[in-house]
Amino acid sequence: MSTGRTRALRLTRRGGPPVLTEVPRPVPVGEEVLVRVEAAGLCRSDLHVIDARAGDLPYRIPFTLGHEVAGRVAERGPRAVGPPVGERVVVYGPWGCGTCARCAAGADNYCDRRAELDADLTGTGTGLGRDGGMADLLLVPSGRLLVPVGDLAAVQAAPLSDAGLTAYHAVATVRRSLDDVPDASVVVIGVGGLGHLAVQILRATTAARVLAVDVREEALTLAEECGAHFDTLLRPDTSTVLRSRTGGVGAVAVLDFVGGHSSMALAVDVLRAGGELAVVGSGGGELAVRKPGALPPGTRVSLPFWGTAPELEQVVALAREGALRVQVEQFALSSAPEAIARLRSGAVRGRAVLVPD
Ligand code: NAD
Ligand code: ZN
Ligand code: ZN
Repeated sequence: MSTGRTRALRLTRRGGPPVLTEVPRPVPVGEEVLVRVEAAGLCRSDLHVIDARAGDLPYRIPFTLGHEVAGRVAERGPRAVGPPVGERVVVYGPWGCGTCARCAAGADNYCDRRAELDADLTGTGTGLGRDGGMADLLLVPSGRLLVPVGDLAAVQAAPLSDAGLTAYHAVATVRRSLDDVPDASVVVIGVGGLGHLAVQILRATTAARVLAVDVREEALTLAEECGAHFDTLLRPDTSTVLRSRTGGVGAVAVLDFVGGHSSMALAVDVLRAGGELAVVGSGGGELAVRKPGALPPGTRVSLPFWGTAPELEQVVALAREGALRVQVEQFALSSAPEAIARLRSGAVRGRAVLVPD
C-alpha cells in the first residue's frame, strides 16, 4: 500500500474558483475501492455548484469536484466487491444510503433516504458534496458503484456516467409515449454536453423524429452530426416553426436540457395534448401547474435526475457498439480554470473533459 500525497481540484469556498491542491492519498478501507482517474468530465452542474450561495445546496465545503469519472481500479479495501485491481471502469456517481430498496436496485439517484442524507449534509454523490474525480485518485464507497468499460477511451467513457446516463434516463422516461405514437416527434432543447448525447440516444433507440433547438449555431451543427432530423435557433417564432414540423399537432415529448424560462415557455408551446415534458436542466425556470392553464390537457411533467446503475451499463454498451460518440474537448487537469471559463462563456462543443497530467 503506497502513501504520500496526490492532487485534487477542490471547491474551498462558495463562488470559487476551485483550486488544484495537494491532499493526502486516500486509503481504501472496508468495502471502499480506490480508482486512479483517467478522465473527468466538466458539467454545467459544476458551474451551478461553484456559484451556489449558502443554503442553496446541502453540501459541506470543501470537497473535490468531478462527478463524471473514468479510471482504473488501483486498490481495494479488504471487503471490496466488484471489479478487480487493474479493471477499467466508470463510476456510477449518485451515492445514496446504499441499503434502501432503491439503492439495492442500483437506483441511488432516487434513494429513499435522500432527505435524511441531505439533512446531514452527506452530499448527493461523487463531486457533489462528496470528494469527486477531478483528481489523480478517487475513493469510491463500494465496488457496486463501478461499471467496467473495457477498452473504451477514458475521455469517451467518463462523460457516459452523467451526460450519457442522464440523457439516457430522460429518454427512458418518455420512451413509452414515443413508442406508442406513430410518427412521433421529440424536441430536444439545448444541444450541449447532455443534449448532443440525447439526440444520439433517441436516434439509436427510438423511431421518433428528433427536432433540436439551441441558441448557438455551432450546437445546431453538432445536432446535425448527431443525427437530428431538424434543428433551429431559439427565436420568437420557434414554436410555430417546430409545430409545422410535427404536422401541426405538436411534439409527443420535449426534453429540456436548459430548464430556463425561455426553454420551458417553448416546451409548453410545442407540446401536443397528452404529451410529456422532461425538465432536465437546472436553469432556474419555473412552470405553473394549473387547470385549466398553459399546459396542454393530459401533459405529464417529469424531473428526471441522473439515472440508475443498470442504465449506466446500457449506456456503456451503446458506446461500445459505436452507437454513442461523445464530442470531447480535452484539457489537462491543471488547465481546469481554462475549461471552466470556456464552459461559462458557452464556447464548449459537446463535453469538456479533464485528464490528469
Ligand atoms: P451545456 O452548457 O453543455 O449545454 C447547454 C446547452 O443549452 C448549450 O448548447 C447552450 O447553448 C444551450 N442553451 C442555453 N440556453 C438555451 C435556451 N434558452 N434555449 C435553447 N438552448 C439553450 O450544459 P450540460 O452540461 O449539458 O447541462 C445542461 C443542464 O442540465 C444544466 O442545467 C445542468 O446543471 C443540468 N444537469 C442536470 C442533470 C440531472 O440529473 N437532471 C444532470 C446533469 C446536468
Ligand atoms: Zn452533471
Ligand atoms: Zn438509499
